Amino acid sequence: MTDRLTFVHVLPTLLGSYGDVGNVLVLRHRAESRGIRVTIVDVEPGDPVPSSADIYVIGGGQGDQETRAAELLRSDFGLSAAYRRGAPILAVCAGMQLLGEWFTDPSGNKVAGVGLLDVTTSRLQQRAVGDVLAEVSGVPGMPTLIGFENHLGATALGSGCRPLARVWRGVGNGAGEPVDGVVQGSVVGTYLHGPVLALNPMLADHLIQEVVGTLPPMDDSRAEEFRGSRRARALR
Ligand code: GLN
Repeated sequence: MTDRLTFVHVLPTLLGSYGDVGNVLVLRHRAESRGIRVTIVDVEPGDPVPSSADIYVIGGGQGDQETRAAELLRSDFGLSAAYRRGAPILAVCAGMQLLGEWFTDPSGNKVAGVGLLDVTTSRLQQRAVGDVLAEVSGVPGMPTLIGFENHLGATALGSGCRPLARVWRGVGNGAGEPVDGVVQGSVVGTYLHGPVLALNPMLADHLIQEVVGTLPPMDDSRAEEFRGSRRARALR
C-alpha cells in the first residue's frame, strides 16, 4: 500500500465556509491512522493547482468568493489534468457548483464554471438551510449520508453524471428529483457541510481507497456517536 499521500486543498481562503476545512483534516486523520504519511498543499489565489497530487478537496463559499474561485480555476489546468488522471476530487456546495458548466451569482448573472461536471446551477426560490439525510446511490457500500445544507443553488444534473444520494430529509440539489450531489468520473460533489467527511467518515475512506486500495478498519465509535446525535437532530 502507498505510504505517502498528498492532498490539495483548493483555494481554502475563498472556499471554506461552514468548516469545510475540516474535510482535509478528516482525510489526513484517516490516512495517518492507517500509517500513511500525508502532505497537505493549500492552493491560494495566484498559486497553480498541482496536477499530480493524490486527492483534491474544494469547499463552499458565498457570492464574490465563488465567482473569483471560478475565474481562477477556469484559467488553471491543474485540476482538469488531475481529473483526467482519475484523482479523487471532493467538491462541496460552491465547490461543486463551480466545477459545472455554469452557476448563478447573487445578482442573477450566469457565471461560467470550470466545465468538469455536467451540471448547471440556477437559483432556488428560497434558501435551503437545515439538516439533510440521504441514502447514497452513487458510491457503493456507504451508510446514510448526514450533513447540513445552506445554499440557494438549484443544481440540475446532465446525462453525463449521476446523483450521489437520494434525499429524504432536506433539499439537496433542489432541481427535479430529491437527490443530493453528483458523481462524475473521479469527482464526488455534495451540498453537505458538517464537515461532510467528519459526519460521513466512510466517504473519506472511499476517497482514500480510490488511491491506495482497501484500508484496514478503524475504531469509528466516536464518529458513530456524532452521526447518531446529528441524525436524531435531523429527525426532530
Ligand atoms: N453561493 C452558493 C449558494 O448559496 C454556495 C453556498 C455555499 O457554498 N454554502 O448556493
